[in-house]
Amino acid sequence: MVIVMNIQSSKNEIQAVNERLSNLGFKTQAIQGVKRIVIGAVGDQHTADSLRSLEQMPGVEKIVPIMKPYKLVSREAREENTIINVRGVVIGGESVTIIAGPCAVESREQLLTAARQVKTAGGHIIRGGAFKPRTSPYSFQGMEEEGLKILREASLETGLPVVTEVIDEHSLNLSMDYVDIIQIGARNMQNFRLLKAAGQTDKPILLKRGMSATIEEWLMAAEYIMSEGNGKVILCERGIRTFETATRNTLDLSAVPMVKRLSHLPVIVDPSHATGDRQLVLPMSLAAIASGADGLILEMHPEPAKALSDGPQSLTPEDLQHLMTQLHKIVPAVGRHIAKHIIG
Ligand code: PEP
Ligand code: MN
Repeated sequence: MVIVMNIQSSKNEIQAVNERLSNLGFKTQAIQGVKRIVIGAVGDQHTADSLRSLEQMPGVEKIVPIMKPYKLVSREAREENTIINVRGVVIGGESVTIIAGPCAVESREQLLTAARQVKTAGGHIIRGGAFKPRTSPYSFQGMEEEGLKILREASLETGLPVVTEVIDEHSLNLSMDYVDIIQIGARNMQNFRLLKAAGQTDKPILLKRGMSATIEEWLMAAEYIMSEGNGKVILCERGIRTFETATRNTLDLSAVPMVKRLSHLPVIVDPSHATGDRQLVLPMSLAAIASGADGLILEMHPEPAKALSDGPQSLTPEDLQHLMTQLHKIVPAVGRHIAKHIIG
């Protein structure tokens, strides 16, 4: 449920409500809106019945039960879009933010080259996997901590923030000192311990949709993160598995406006993993933005033919430049703007 406080309620009144809630066994979280002061309270439903008295407390305007299984994530808890600021790069709101880079960090030379190319093309954030969750144990598993060091170097040189995927609590802990955004991949979307651990950090979390996850399951995964106190969650639609085999996955673009209706969190799209085919990345990127996505995460490799993973879906640097040019036409047409570079 959410407790909507009177807009003029005092700090003491808010504090008193918070204390009453925690005595009743609820976990509380302040949800700072522009129009309302709201306290999100999550806990056992049966204790909710004993809350009538809460409604009488000074400063309380109303108590709104949230019917959806996800609470803090839901639009009912927060009307306005959540906007996340990653070292001066904005994700959400009116902005369209572009994340790009190789599937994996393969060498210092490869990643630094890619990072410079992303910056030249006008991208905002660099991606690169240091821990790769591969289908085969014999495939390249990532450079691990050495890869993290290279990502940090690329960030220092370009001034752009970096995102990397973590696959367990160990890689999460290792990544904390090196990267700006933590990615939880499709294969770990329901790794609940990892979600909780990510929720205990103060880093923005890029949460990919599981390849067979419903929208509700995906939002429940985001709820795990938020319920631990981290509200900086970026949802990423990356295609789901269907009967179709012509594309790597099926990009569920209807999920974008649907999730934006259900949740206040920013939603980005990954057309690279969704299609598995570099030629489909441009059209699906444009479609994603037209559907209301707050940004894209794109695989780009300096030399895709030599990539150790996901070469066929990786854009060339020239492809990325072309895509950015096309985006400059589509983005204003749908009432948005390309995120501004505040840093670098
Ligand atoms: C990735 O972004 O490198 C990745 C492995 O993506 P996904 O989890 O969507 O498969
Ligand atoms: Mn990949």
